[in-house]
Amino acid sequence: MQQKAYKFWFCTGSQDLYGDECLAHVAEHSRIIVDAWNASGNLPYEVVWKPTLITNELIRKTLNEANTDEECAGVITWMHTFSPAKSWILGLQEYRKPLLHLHTQFNQEIPYDSIDMDFMNENQSAHGDREYGHIFSRLGMERKVVVGFWADEAVQKNIGSWMRTAVGVIESSHVRVMRVADNMRNVAVTEGDKVEAQIQFGWEIDAYPVNEIAERVNAVSKPDIDALVEEYYSKYEILLEGRDEKEFREHVAVQAGIEIGFERFLEEKGYQAIVTHFGDLGGLKQLPGLAIQRLMEKGYGFGGEGDWKTAAMVRIMKIMTQGMKDAKGTSFMEDYTYNLVPGKEGILQAHMLEVCPSIAEGPIRIKEQPLSMGDREDPARLVFTSKTGPAVATSLIDLGTRFRLIINDVDCKKVEKPMPKLPVATAFWTPRPNLQTGAQAWILAGGAHHTAFSYDLTSEQMGDWANAMGIEAVYIDKDTTIRQFKNELRWNAAAYRK
Ligand code: MN
Repeated sequence: MQQKAYKFWFCTGSQDLYGDECLAHVAEHSRIIVDAWNASGNLPYEVVWKPTLITNELIRKTLNEANTDEECAGVITWMHTFSPAKSWILGLQEYRKPLLHLHTQFNQEIPYDSIDMDFMNENQSAHGDREYGHIFSRLGMERKVVVGFWADEAVQKNIGSWMRTAVGVIESSHVRVMRVADNMRNVAVTEGDKVEAQIQFGWEIDAYPVNEIAERVNAVSKPDIDALVEEYYSKYEILLEGRDEKEFREHVAVQAGIEIGFERFLEEKGYQAIVTHFGDLGGLKQLPGLAIQRLMEKGYGFGGEGDWKTAAMVRIMKIMTQGMKDAKGTSFMEDYTYNLVPGKEGILQAHMLEVCPSIAEGPIRIKEQPLSMGDREDPARLVFTSKTGPAVATSLIDLGTRFRLIINDVDCKKVEKPMPKLPVATAFWTPRPNLQTGAQAWILAGGAHHTAFSYDLTSEQMGDWANAMGIEAVYIDKDTTIRQFKNELRWNAAAYRK
């Protein structure tokens, strides 16, 4: 997964009413801010300083340059002085990328001894940013507003977190999902309108006959497979459990062939996400298990049983977390079974095989076992348990007339005891505010059993992404009450009516 060198432009607004000296200060201050940000280590992407915007013409020109600059993933704006917002209308109407309105001020403290009207005119973002914010509301435009002193670490981290959302927005239009099988028969929640998804999110979702990819798997050379099997054996523990060593290795080799063949096919055709279906495997000898787990770890999106919406979301969330220090992982996930013991409530998360090892904690082992569904040889898979701590689980659903993103804050925990007979990787979490309310709200919202899950993103980032995409987002978190949540769903139904 290659991280693109995205940049964000910092555009400071003013006007020519205050004289050249004031404008020189404005430019100098905004340069100081940009230099400090780039040196701070708190922003995942570089900020580029742009000349002060003081006229309709320059505002329009700059924002259109941002539109066409491939490296620019968004613009951060701040009104150092007053900047009459009618000057911004045309530029903003033509602007198409994420925008952050930073409501800050160059000085942290009022200079009590020296403050005069010149100072007030030069440092009036409290005034100018309100005029500027008004025009977004008047235009009905989506933007992120961050308030605080620009040198504060918390403000910088807030900007950094928004940058990841902005990259998720920009990258959404490059997401291409390969379907090597259709959605599972009769299943409702994994379905959706692919044309609408391309209109709304920019996703391309294409189908290929499963045997076309199976041919590529069969064409992988033995030396290539042997080399990858060696890598597996050196990297993971082997859970032989009485199985024949030679046969075990042959089964692992099948997954190595699938990993290589799939990756070559995806790369050649330019796809970053994939779906499979255990009921439609064509010439593949095993359900892709270990192979898909490894591809997800490399940054590919994945959805089981043809679930292309979740596959695309996993891909986007992996992009949003790219290059993050101490990242804990992002995966496709599925609600499986409950622990309903009072005080220990939670949902055991797993899938047939396909859980991303980026979320693992402790040893990762290769295991083979028959599938309870399907008709292929016993697939090799990676088994592990996952990290603890707060995380976010999301489900994108198609309501027929629109998409809804359901965002749940969850707390990941260790299960009390080992589960030696369970042949799949797992996580275990308690949804906030608790299992009863969290699961009730999730079901009322129509959330799926499949989720795109990450320890490294927040509900704020996912909600901002949904807002930027123009779709409904609902949050299930520590503040959720069912009465309020049901009203929110009712009100949203009216607000999003087309
Ligand atoms: Mn599933």
